[in-house]
Amino acid sequence: MNILLTGGAGYIGSHTALVLAQAGHNVVLFDNLSNSDAAVPEKISSMAGKKLPFVQADVRATDLVEKALREHRIDAVVHFAGFKAVGESVAVPIEYYANNIHGTVSLLQAMQRVSVKTLLFSSSATVYGLPQYLPIDEAHPTHAINPYGRTKLHVEEMLGDVARSDAAWRIMCLRYFNPVGAHESGMIGERPNGIPNNLMPFIAQVASGERERLQVFGNDYPTADGTGIRDYIHVMDLAEGHAAAVHYLQSHQGWDVINLGTGQGYSVLDMVRAFEKASGRGIPYVIAARRPGDVPACYANPAKAKRLLGWQATRSLDDMCASTWQFQRNRV
Ligand code: NAD
Ligand code: UDP
Repeated sequence: MNILLTGGAGYIGSHTALVLAQAGHNVVLFDNLSNSDAAVPEKISSMAGKKLPFVQADVRATDLVEKALREHRIDAVVHFAGFKAVGESVAVPIEYYANNIHGTVSLLQAMQRVSVKTLLFSSSATVYGLPQYLPIDEAHPTHAINPYGRTKLHVEEMLGDVARSDAAWRIMCLRYFNPVGAHESGMIGERPNGIPNNLMPFIAQVASGERERLQVFGNDYPTADGTGIRDYIHVMDLAEGHAAAVHYLQSHQGWDVINLGTGQGYSVLDMVRAFEKASGRGIPYVIAARRPGDVPACYANPAKAKRLLGWQATRSLDDMCASTWQFQRNRV
Protein backbone atom coordinates (compact mmCIF):
# COMPACT_ATOMS: atom_id res chain seq x y z
CA MET A 1 0.00 0.00 0.00
CA ASN A 2 0.97 3.64 -0.36
CA ILE A 3 0.85 5.15 3.13
CA LEU A 4 1.28 8.78 4.19
CA LEU A 5 2.58 9.38 7.73
CA THR A 6 1.83 12.84 9.11
CA GLY A 7 4.40 13.49 11.82
CA GLY A 8 6.46 10.74 10.19
CA ALA A 9 9.80 12.27 11.26
CA GLY A 10 8.82 12.20 14.94
CA TYR A 11 9.54 9.63 17.61
CA ILE A 12 6.74 7.10 16.99
CA GLY A 13 6.30 8.05 13.32
CA SER A 14 9.93 7.31 12.44
CA HIS A 15 9.84 3.81 13.95
CA THR A 16 6.48 3.09 12.31
CA ALA A 17 7.80 4.34 8.95
CA LEU A 18 10.65 1.88 9.18
CA VAL A 19 8.42 -1.07 10.10
CA LEU A 20 5.91 -0.27 7.33
CA ALA A 21 8.67 0.22 4.74
CA GLN A 22 10.31 -3.06 5.75
CA ALA A 23 6.92 -4.77 5.41
CA GLY A 24 6.90 -3.71 1.75
CA HIS A 25 4.67 -0.62 1.90
CA ASN A 26 5.52 2.61 0.06
CA VAL A 27 5.83 5.13 2.87
CA VAL A 28 5.69 8.93 2.44
CA LEU A 29 6.74 11.14 5.36
CA PHE A 30 4.85 14.41 5.87
CA ASP A 31 6.20 16.60 8.69
CA ASN A 32 6.81 20.28 9.39
CA LEU A 33 9.81 19.39 11.60
CA SER A 34 8.39 21.47 14.46
CA ASN A 35 9.51 18.76 16.88
CA SER A 36 11.90 16.61 14.87
CA ASP A 37 15.27 16.58 13.28
CA ALA A 38 15.74 17.25 9.54
CA ALA A 39 18.17 14.30 9.41
CA VAL A 40 15.52 11.73 10.39
CA PRO A 41 13.97 11.09 6.93
CA GLU A 42 17.45 10.27 5.55
CA LYS A 43 18.19 7.99 8.48
CA ILE A 44 14.96 6.05 8.03
CA SER A 45 15.67 5.72 4.30
CA SER A 46 19.14 4.35 4.93
CA MET A 47 17.86 1.92 7.57
CA ALA A 48 15.03 0.75 5.28
CA GLY A 49 17.37 0.43 2.30
CA LYS A 50 15.06 2.52 0.10
CA LYS A 51 14.36 6.21 -0.32
CA LEU A 52 11.25 7.36 1.53
CA PRO A 53 9.79 10.54 -0.03
CA PHE A 54 9.66 13.39 2.49
CA VAL A 55 7.28 16.36 2.28
CA GLN A 56 8.21 19.16 4.65
CA ALA A 57 4.90 20.91 5.26
CA ASP A 58 2.26 21.67 7.85
CA VAL A 59 -0.76 19.41 8.04
CA ARG A 60 -2.91 22.54 8.40
CA ALA A 61 -1.96 23.49 4.82
CA THR A 62 -4.85 21.49 3.32
CA ASP A 63 -3.78 22.07 -0.29
CA LEU A 64 -0.30 20.69 0.40
CA VAL A 65 -1.73 17.62 2.08
CA GLU A 66 -4.05 17.11 -0.88
CA LYS A 67 -1.13 17.49 -3.30
CA ALA A 68 0.90 14.86 -1.41
CA LEU A 69 -2.07 12.46 -1.34
CA ARG A 70 -2.54 12.83 -5.09
CA GLU A 71 1.11 12.77 -6.15
CA HIS A 72 1.92 9.64 -4.19
CA ARG A 73 -1.42 7.91 -4.88
CA ILE A 74 -1.94 7.39 -1.18
CA ASP A 75 -4.25 4.57 0.01
CA ALA A 76 -4.08 5.17 3.78
CA VAL A 77 -2.90 7.80 6.25
CA VAL A 78 -1.40 7.39 9.72
CA HIS A 79 -1.89 10.66 11.60
CA PHE A 80 0.84 11.24 14.22
CA ALA A 81 1.30 15.00 13.71
CA GLY A 82 0.40 17.04 16.75
CA PHE A 83 1.63 18.45 20.04
CA LYS A 84 1.90 16.04 22.98
CA ALA A 85 3.10 17.68 26.22
CA VAL A 86 0.44 17.74 28.94
CA GLY A 87 1.99 20.62 30.95
CA GLU A 88 2.49 22.77 27.86
CA SER A 89 -1.12 22.14 26.83
CA VAL A 90 -2.27 23.70 30.11
CA ALA A 91 -0.09 26.77 29.47
CA VAL A 92 -0.89 27.25 25.76
CA PRO A 93 -4.21 25.48 25.07
CA ILE A 94 -4.98 27.53 21.95
CA GLU A 95 -1.80 26.21 20.29
CA TYR A 96 -2.87 22.67 21.17
CA TYR A 97 -6.40 23.04 19.82
CA ALA A 98 -5.06 24.78 16.71
CA ASN A 99 -2.56 22.06 15.92
CA ASN A 100 -4.29 18.92 17.12
CA ILE A 101 -7.89 19.73 16.19
CA HIS A 102 -7.46 22.06 13.21
CA GLY A 103 -4.64 19.85 11.93
CA THR A 104 -6.96 16.84 11.89
CA VAL A 105 -9.82 18.77 10.26
CA SER A 106 -7.45 19.94 7.54
CA LEU A 107 -6.21 16.39 6.96
CA LEU A 108 -9.78 15.05 6.76
CA GLN A 109 -10.73 17.75 4.23
CA ALA A 110 -7.78 16.86 2.05
CA MET A 111 -8.53 13.12 2.34
CA GLN A 112 -12.16 13.69 1.42
CA ARG A 113 -11.21 15.72 -1.67
CA VAL A 114 -9.19 12.81 -3.05
CA SER A 115 -11.38 10.04 -1.63
CA VAL A 116 -8.71 8.52 0.60
CA LYS A 117 -10.79 7.15 3.47
CA THR A 118 -8.50 4.91 5.50
CA LEU A 119 -7.03 6.53 8.61
CA LEU A 120 -5.14 5.48 11.73
CA PHE A 121 -5.09 8.10 14.49
CA SER A 122 -2.55 8.40 17.34
CA SER A 123 -4.68 8.63 20.45
CA SER A 124 -3.60 8.14 24.03
CA ALA A 125 -4.49 6.36 27.25
CA THR A 126 -4.80 9.85 28.70
CA VAL A 127 -8.38 9.89 27.33
CA TYR A 128 -9.37 7.53 30.17
CA GLY A 129 -8.49 10.09 32.88
CA LEU A 130 -8.42 8.71 36.43
CA PRO A 131 -8.68 4.91 36.12
CA GLN A 132 -11.91 3.57 37.61
CA TYR A 133 -10.64 -0.02 37.32
CA LEU A 134 -7.53 -1.83 36.14
CA PRO A 135 -6.47 -3.07 33.69
CA ILE A 136 -8.14 -0.48 31.45
CA ASP A 137 -10.10 -1.89 28.53
CA GLU A 138 -11.64 0.14 25.71
CA ALA A 139 -15.07 0.13 27.45
CA HIS A 140 -13.60 2.17 30.33
CA PRO A 141 -15.33 5.58 30.49
CA THR A 142 -13.40 8.45 28.92
CA HIS A 143 -12.75 11.62 30.83
CA ALA A 144 -9.84 13.76 29.72
CA ILE A 145 -8.43 15.93 32.49
CA ASN A 146 -6.18 18.37 30.61
CA PRO A 147 -6.26 20.26 27.29
CA TYR A 148 -3.97 17.72 25.55
CA GLY A 149 -6.24 14.85 26.55
CA ARG A 150 -9.30 16.82 25.46
CA THR A 151 -7.82 17.37 21.99
CA LYS A 152 -7.36 13.59 21.67
CA LEU A 153 -10.89 12.91 22.85
CA HIS A 154 -12.43 15.57 20.61
CA VAL A 155 -10.59 14.14 17.60
CA GLU A 156 -11.70 10.59 18.43
CA GLU A 157 -15.33 11.80 18.61
CA MET A 158 -14.98 13.84 15.44
CA LEU A 159 -13.63 10.78 13.62
CA GLY A 160 -16.62 8.77 14.87
CA ASP A 161 -18.97 11.36 13.33
CA VAL A 162 -17.06 11.22 10.05
CA ALA A 163 -17.21 7.41 9.91
CA ARG A 164 -20.96 7.45 10.64
CA SER A 165 -21.56 9.97 7.85
CA ASP A 166 -20.13 7.76 5.11
CA ALA A 167 -19.67 3.99 5.30
CA ALA A 168 -16.60 4.13 3.07
CA TRP A 169 -14.43 5.45 5.91
CA ARG A 170 -12.16 3.04 7.77
CA ILE A 171 -10.88 4.73 10.91
CA MET A 172 -8.97 3.31 13.85
CA CYS A 173 -7.98 5.29 16.95
CA LEU A 174 -5.00 3.69 18.66
CA ARG A 175 -4.74 4.54 22.35
CA TYR A 176 -1.07 4.31 23.26
CA PHE A 177 0.02 3.68 26.82
CA ASN A 178 3.64 4.74 27.62
CA PRO A 179 5.87 4.43 24.54
CA VAL A 180 9.58 4.09 25.37
CA GLY A 181 12.73 2.64 23.84
CA ALA A 182 14.26 3.02 20.42
CA HIS A 183 15.20 1.00 17.37
CA GLU A 184 17.85 -1.48 18.48
CA SER A 185 20.46 0.23 16.28
CA GLY A 186 20.08 3.38 18.38
CA MET A 187 19.94 5.41 15.14
CA ILE A 188 16.46 6.78 15.78
CA GLY A 189 14.74 7.37 19.11
CA GLU A 190 13.06 9.94 21.30
CA ARG A 191 14.77 13.31 21.25
CA PRO A 192 13.18 15.48 23.92
CA ASN A 193 13.73 19.23 23.80
CA GLY A 194 15.13 20.68 27.00
CA ILE A 195 14.45 18.99 30.33
CA PRO A 196 12.54 15.76 29.70
CA ASN A 197 9.08 15.55 31.28
CA ASN A 198 8.86 11.80 30.85
CA LEU A 199 10.51 9.24 33.06
CA MET A 200 12.51 7.16 30.59
CA PRO A 201 14.34 9.99 28.77
CA PHE A 202 15.08 11.58 32.14
CA ILE A 203 16.57 8.35 33.50
CA ALA A 204 18.67 7.98 30.34
CA GLN A 205 20.10 11.48 30.82
CA VAL A 206 20.92 10.74 34.46
CA ALA A 207 22.70 7.54 33.41
CA SER A 208 24.78 9.46 30.87
CA GLY A 209 25.69 12.14 33.40
CA GLU A 210 23.77 14.94 31.63
CA ARG A 211 21.58 15.29 34.74
CA GLU A 212 22.58 14.79 38.33
CA ARG A 213 19.68 12.81 39.72
CA LEU A 214 16.13 11.67 39.10
CA GLN A 215 13.27 13.00 41.16
CA VAL A 216 10.85 10.19 41.94
CA PHE A 217 7.44 11.88 42.09
CA GLY A 218 5.89 10.30 45.17
CA ASN A 219 6.56 7.09 47.08
CA ASP A 220 3.31 7.03 49.03
CA TYR A 221 0.99 5.72 46.34
CA PRO A 222 -1.03 2.56 47.10
CA THR A 223 1.37 0.40 45.04
CA ALA A 224 3.84 -2.31 46.13
CA ASP A 225 6.82 0.07 46.47
CA GLY A 226 4.79 3.28 46.75
CA THR A 227 5.85 4.70 43.35
CA GLY A 228 3.63 5.18 40.30
CA ILE A 229 2.92 2.28 37.96
CA ARG A 230 2.63 2.59 34.18
CA ASP A 231 2.37 0.34 31.13
CA TYR A 232 5.62 1.00 29.25
CA ILE A 233 5.56 -0.29 25.69
CA HIS A 234 8.56 -0.63 23.36
CA VAL A 235 8.22 1.78 20.44
CA MET A 236 9.04 -1.02 17.99
CA ASP A 237 6.13 -3.08 19.37
CA LEU A 238 3.97 0.01 18.98
CA ALA A 239 5.18 0.44 15.39
CA GLU A 240 4.29 -3.19 14.63
CA GLY A 241 0.85 -2.56 16.14
CA HIS A 242 0.33 0.14 13.50
CA ALA A 243 1.31 -2.26 10.73
CA ALA A 244 -1.23 -4.78 12.07
CA ALA A 245 -3.90 -2.06 12.22
CA VAL A 246 -3.21 -0.95 8.63
CA HIS A 247 -3.70 -4.56 7.56
CA TYR A 248 -6.92 -4.85 9.60
CA LEU A 249 -8.43 -1.72 8.03
CA GLN A 250 -8.05 -3.20 4.55
CA SER A 251 -10.99 -5.48 5.34
CA HIS A 252 -12.93 -3.46 7.95
CA GLN A 253 -15.02 -0.32 7.53
CA GLY A 254 -16.30 2.03 10.23
CA TRP A 255 -14.66 3.44 13.36
CA ASP A 256 -13.07 1.72 16.32
CA VAL A 257 -10.63 2.27 19.19
CA ILE A 258 -7.91 -0.11 20.34
CA ASN A 259 -5.47 0.03 23.26
CA LEU A 260 -1.81 -0.48 22.43
CA GLY A 261 -0.14 -1.51 25.66
CA THR A 262 1.50 -4.58 27.15
CA GLY A 263 -0.88 -5.21 30.06
CA GLN A 264 2.11 -5.22 32.40
CA GLY A 265 2.71 -2.39 34.86
CA TYR A 266 6.11 -1.31 36.19
CA SER A 267 6.84 1.12 39.01
CA VAL A 268 9.24 4.05 38.83
CA LEU A 269 11.74 2.11 40.94
CA ASP A 270 11.37 -0.97 38.67
CA MET A 271 12.37 1.33 35.80
CA VAL A 272 15.36 2.72 37.69
CA ARG A 273 16.65 -0.78 38.49
CA ALA A 274 16.11 -2.07 34.95
CA PHE A 275 17.97 0.91 33.50
CA GLU A 276 20.84 0.47 35.92
CA LYS A 277 21.14 -3.13 34.74
CA ALA A 278 20.98 -2.22 31.02
CA SER A 279 23.46 0.65 31.27
CA GLY A 280 25.78 -0.59 33.97
CA ARG A 281 25.48 2.89 35.51
CA GLY A 282 24.04 3.99 38.83
CA ILE A 283 20.90 6.16 38.69
CA PRO A 284 20.94 8.47 41.73
CA TYR A 285 17.44 9.53 42.76
CA VAL A 286 15.61 11.47 45.45
CA ILE A 287 12.03 11.06 46.53
CA ALA A 288 10.07 14.23 45.72
CA ALA A 289 6.45 15.29 46.10
CA ARG A 290 3.77 13.75 43.92
CA ARG A 291 3.41 15.45 40.54
CA PRO A 292 -0.01 17.13 40.25
CA GLY A 293 -2.38 15.23 37.96
CA ASP A 294 -0.53 11.89 38.22
CA VAL A 295 -2.53 8.73 38.86
CA PRO A 296 -1.18 5.92 41.09
CA ALA A 297 -1.38 3.21 38.42
CA CYS A 298 -2.40 2.90 34.78
CA TYR A 299 -2.06 -0.16 32.57
CA ALA A 300 -3.90 -1.63 29.63
CA ASN A 301 -6.04 -4.60 28.96
CA PRO A 302 -4.54 -5.39 25.54
CA ALA A 303 -6.97 -8.25 24.71
CA LYS A 304 -8.84 -6.36 21.98
CA ALA A 305 -5.64 -5.68 20.02
CA LYS A 306 -4.80 -9.36 20.17
CA ARG A 307 -8.30 -10.41 19.16
CA LEU A 308 -8.81 -7.96 16.28
CA LEU A 309 -5.28 -7.29 15.07
CA GLY A 310 -3.53 -10.52 16.04
CA TRP A 311 -0.92 -8.27 17.64
CA GLN A 312 0.66 -8.25 21.06
CA ALA A 313 3.80 -6.67 22.49
CA THR A 314 6.75 -9.06 22.64
CA ARG A 315 9.71 -6.96 23.80
CA SER A 316 10.80 -6.90 27.45
CA LEU A 317 11.60 -4.10 29.85
CA ASP A 318 15.28 -4.99 29.39
CA ASP A 319 14.87 -4.45 25.61
CA MET A 320 13.24 -1.07 26.26
CA CYS A 321 16.10 0.05 28.52
CA ALA A 322 18.92 -1.38 26.38
CA SER A 323 17.68 0.34 23.20
CA THR A 324 17.10 3.65 25.02
CA TRP A 325 20.66 3.45 26.34
CA GLN A 326 22.03 2.67 22.87
CA PHE A 327 20.25 5.74 21.44
CA GLN A 328 21.39 7.90 24.36
CA ARG A 329 25.02 6.88 23.82
CA ASN A 330 24.79 7.68 20.10
CA ARG A 331 23.38 11.12 20.93
CA VAL A 332 26.02 12.40 23.30
P1 NAD B 1 6.77 13.72 18.21
O1 NAD B 1 6.64 15.13 18.64
O2 NAD B 1 8.10 13.07 18.27
O3 NAD B 1 6.21 13.54 16.74
C1 NAD B 1 5.19 14.36 16.20
C2 NAD B 1 5.69 14.86 14.85
O4 NAD B 1 4.67 15.65 14.27
C3 NAD B 1 6.94 15.73 14.96
O5 NAD B 1 7.92 15.24 14.05
C4 NAD B 1 6.46 17.12 14.57
O6 NAD B 1 7.47 17.85 13.89
C5 NAD B 1 5.27 16.80 13.70
N1 NAD B 1 4.24 17.83 13.67
C6 NAD B 1 3.65 18.45 14.72
N2 NAD B 1 2.72 19.31 14.29
C7 NAD B 1 2.71 19.23 12.93
C8 NAD B 1 1.96 19.86 11.91
N3 NAD B 1 1.04 20.78 12.18
N4 NAD B 1 2.22 19.52 10.62
C9 NAD B 1 3.15 18.60 10.32
N5 NAD B 1 3.89 17.97 11.24
C10 NAD B 1 3.67 18.28 12.53
O7 NAD B 1 5.70 12.89 19.07
P2 NAD B 1 5.49 11.32 19.19
O8 NAD B 1 5.88 10.91 20.56
O9 NAD B 1 6.07 10.62 18.02
O10 NAD B 1 3.91 11.26 19.13
C11 NAD B 1 3.22 11.03 17.92
C12 NAD B 1 1.73 11.06 18.19
O11 NAD B 1 1.42 10.09 19.19
C13 NAD B 1 1.23 12.41 18.74
O12 NAD B 1 -0.03 12.67 18.16
C14 NAD B 1 1.09 12.15 20.22
O13 NAD B 1 0.10 12.96 20.80
C15 NAD B 1 0.68 10.68 20.24
N6 NAD B 1 1.03 10.02 21.51
C16 NAD B 1 2.33 10.03 21.96
C17 NAD B 1 2.64 9.45 23.19
C18 NAD B 1 4.05 9.49 23.72
O14 NAD B 1 4.24 9.26 24.92
N7 NAD B 1 5.06 9.73 22.92
C19 NAD B 1 1.64 8.80 23.93
C20 NAD B 1 0.34 8.78 23.43
C21 NAD B 1 0.03 9.40 22.21
N1 UDP C 1 8.10 10.23 36.99
C1 UDP C 1 9.03 10.48 38.00
N2 UDP C 1 10.04 11.36 37.74
C2 UDP C 1 10.18 12.02 36.56
C3 UDP C 1 9.23 11.76 35.53
C4 UDP C 1 8.20 10.87 35.78
O1 UDP C 1 8.94 9.91 39.07
O2 UDP C 1 11.10 12.82 36.39
C5 UDP C 1 7.02 9.26 37.22
C6 UDP C 1 5.61 9.83 37.09
O3 UDP C 1 5.19 10.38 38.33
C7 UDP C 1 4.82 8.58 36.67
C8 UDP C 1 5.82 7.79 35.85
O4 UDP C 1 7.12 8.27 36.23
O5 UDP C 1 4.48 7.80 37.81
C9 UDP C 1 5.66 7.96 34.34
O6 UDP C 1 5.64 9.36 34.03
P1 UDP C 1 5.73 9.88 32.52
O7 UDP C 1 5.71 11.37 32.56
O8 UDP C 1 6.86 9.21 31.82
O9 UDP C 1 4.38 9.31 31.86
P2 UDP C 1 2.82 9.62 32.14
O10 UDP C 1 2.73 10.54 33.28
O11 UDP C 1 2.35 10.19 30.87
O12 UDP C 1 2.22 8.28 32.41
